[in-house]
Amino acid sequence: MSREADLPRSIRRGPLITIGCECGEQRRLHYGERWTCEKCGRTWNTRRIPLEEYAALRRTQLRYRRVPLLIAALSLACVVVFIVLGRAFAGLIVVAFALTAWSMFVHPFYKRRYREQLAKIPTWKIEPE
Ligand SMILES: [Zn+2]
Repeated sequence: MSREADLPRSIRRGPLITIGCECGEQRRLHYGERWTCEKCGRTWNTRRIPLEEYAALRRTQLRYRRVPLLIAALSLACVVVFIVLGRAFAGLIVVAFALTAWSMFVHPFYKRRYREQLAKIPTWKIEPE
């Protein structure tokens, strides 16, 4: 684990990588981790995956996560503004309306795009150590 220290934090927290051992065992690992298969003793090192390709994948994931966060922050800001104006009830109605519109019309479309992007996750062929 200590060998992960030289990797950027963002990479270490990236999407899990599924390693399929030649004997059929599977394990999900973070980038930078090594795994010795319990069944056959082969050792797999996720660092054999090109870092730049993995980083591109991580960037896609982060880009898609930013939007819902942004929407949540905007909704909150909206409520605060209406509360400051003394119109808390009106503010709640506006936000409730916006969130409903988001979940009914935008979110399904957005989710599909996200899944399509992640479905493009490349498969790497790495050799055991
Ligand atoms: Zn194995």
